[in-house]
Amino acid sequence: MTDTGASGFDTIVIVDWSARAALSPVRPSADAIWIAIARAEAITCHYHRGREDAYQALKRMFETEIAAGRRVLAGFDFAFGYPRGFAEALTGSADPLAVWAALAARIEDAPDNANNRFEVAAALNARFPGVGPFWGRPATRDLPGLPDKGTARHGHGMAERRECEARVPGAQSVWKLYTTGSVGSQSLLGLPRLHRLRQHFGPALSVRPFEDRATPLTLVEIFPSLLAKTIRLLAEPGEIKDRAQVRLLAAALRALPPARLEALTREGDREEGWILGLGHEEELAAAAKLAQASTLTPPRLRDDCFAMPQGVSWVPVDEALERLRAALHPVTGTEVLPTAQARGRVLAADTIARRSNPPRPNSAVDGYGFAHEATGEGVQRLPLVEGRAAAGQPFEAAVPAGYAIRILTGAILPEGVDTVVLEEDCATDGAVVAFDGPVKPRANTRKAGEDVTEGSPALPAGHRLRAPDLALLSALGVAEVTVHRPLRVGVLSTGDEIIGSPADPAKPHQIWDANRPMLLSLAEGWDYEAIDLGHARDDAEEIAARLDRGAQACDVILTSGGASAGDEDHVSALLRAKGTLSSWRIALKPGRPLALALWQGTPVFGLPGNPVAALVCALIFARPAFSLLAGAGWLAPQGFTVPAAFSKRKKPGRREYLRARLDAEGRAEVFASEGSGRISGLSWAEGLVELPDGAVEVSPGTPVRFLPYSALGLR
Ligand code: AMP
Ligand code: MG
Repeated sequence: MTDTGASGFDTIVIVDWSARAALSPVRPSADAIWIAIARAEAITCHYHRGREDAYQALKRMFETEIAAGRRVLAGFDFAFGYPRGFAEALTGSADPLAVWAALAARIEDAPDNANNRFEVAAALNARFPGVGPFWGRPATRDLPGLPDKGTARHGHGMAERRECEARVPGAQSVWKLYTTGSVGSQSLLGLPRLHRLRQHFGPALSVRPFEDRATPLTLVEIFPSLLAKTIRLLAEPGEIKDRAQVRLLAAALRALPPARLEALTREGDREEGWILGLGHEEELAAAAKLAQASTLTPPRLRDDCFAMPQGVSWVPVDEALERLRAALHPVTGTEVLPTAQARGRVLAADTIARRSNPPRPNSAVDGYGFAHEATGEGVQRLPLVEGRAAAGQPFEAAVPAGYAIRILTGAILPEGVDTVVLEEDCATDGAVVAFDGPVKPRANTRKAGEDVTEGSPALPAGHRLRAPDLALLSALGVAEVTVHRPLRVGVLSTGDEIIGSPADPAKPHQIWDANRPMLLSLAEGWDYEAIDLGHARDDAEEIAARLDRGAQACDVILTSGGASAGDEDHVSALLRAKGTLSSWRIALKPGRPLALALWQGTPVFGLPGNPVAALVCALIFARPAFSLLAGAGWLAPQGFTVPAAFSKRKKPGRREYLRARLDAEGRAEVFASEGSGRISGLSWAEGLVELPDGAVEVSPGTPVRFLPYSALGLR
């Protein structure tokens, strides 16, 4: 078998090994062998009562995967190596894989899990001076040379822990063979099995980080406790911990970018071995959450979610908004996208900085860099070292104290440089640079991570990505993001008088459909997928057929027309008869009736037919509600207070929105007519003036609230 040279693994296998001396219960339980197998399409979990059984299943599965051309990464939760020097002392070679062979030659491990690990450990101890390094045994097994207490050991000359274990709080020593949490026995009973896999698969198998070849099957050491907190968070209710561990670690590794995972397998110590992902716990946790987010199917909306309590006649706008907010939740699934293509999308998981920004301290200006320590008051004259430091062209040597170096913006500070003076403040002849002291320590430099530090949250779930966010994520090395699918918004017009397209002729009693193009482009401007459901005549069957289609293809449907409770209000009549209509009479002008219903589980927002009312209702109600459905959370419009340029006396009882724009003095002027059929006013306006529910008397100069179209996502 030759190197595949490939990057990325198709199948990820995570094994929670067990050192039990008898078979585990028939019923899946903890402290047994658990294996998770993650392929592109699914993750499956498998329970094994004994090591031989698990070994055979793994071997067969690896064969199948390799035959199918899939590249496999298999992680096992026991130490692949021992503290430095052990391999040499035991086998005469520093090669950790020689230890595998040596153990395989000694360990006997029967199909019923009966094994000789304590005898083998005692025999290994005998090859070392003093007592140890292995220790721990049942009180009943008195073996010469294998103490039952760690403190009884002395003089064996081995370090207690591997370097990687020293970095993991709570990690156990490989020498400890008995009582819970002791990984030592797992290694003694696991490494011989891995040795057999090596013999069986030959050059198709490699062990990281000991070997660097790209092979169809790669083995790595894993430690699920690196993810302990996240596993507790994401485990299914009642899920056996071992199962949750293998499942979620497999999911996390699968969610990492392929090249990243490949790189992680190569990290670490080539003699002692290494725990995959050590030092990158935040990144693994983020990947696990990301994986979880993409398997989460949003719950359906409740049929009665829009129900209004009996006896409510007029609902104030704020209460209607509160009710909507309480009734709805995100309904969109998730997908992974390259960051560069994710503008407008909503993050479905927190993104974590892969690297600090800036990654290293660097210069904020063009100038001269030096060690601050060697400077003082008055004129400073520092000889220049040869060469320079520029962005992308680091100066590799150290700058001695008392010397300076030419440095350009963005250049990493060379060793010995902590302070930079601006070139405008310097004189130089090419050999010496002169400037006035004192200079502030670290002047004109940027600290590593002063913007964002590696592993810290960059942007939270629910954030909608805009151009600057793509800059941030790219700067932090985030190549892919898990985002919500765009909300699919269906738009349907109704009315016998409506002609679908202005390209078609219209008789005097007919009007061209103004709402559909408006609402479709509104949805697009909100970064949703707009789906044209066409136009239906005022006919229950026709409307029902279009709603059926909408329920299939959309996450939410906007209709316009026929939303009131009159004879010709066919949309509300149909939604009442066949859907779950709640007619909300909202104390709002223009607008009033808002028909809310579920049609086959899909929410329908029935807007009034008047284009002015349809737009206002869409901006005030649909916009925040859709944002919630899309995973981006509720959205309150950002308005600001400006003086009025108009006069108006308003009665109490309902909120009013006026078509408005700012005049040259920044005062709000309103459209000459409040007629709700005056579409030209919508076009004339650049926003809405919001007048409160109570009575107001506005005269020129009165402060009023202005909501610019742009703050309502209208463009
Ligand atoms: P309705 O809500 O169906 O009673 O309609 C109220 C007013 O809006 C009527 O004058 C309709 O003709 C008008 N209208 C309804 N739908 C549209 C539409 N899609 N485009 C333009 N005007 C409409
Ligand atoms: Mg109508």
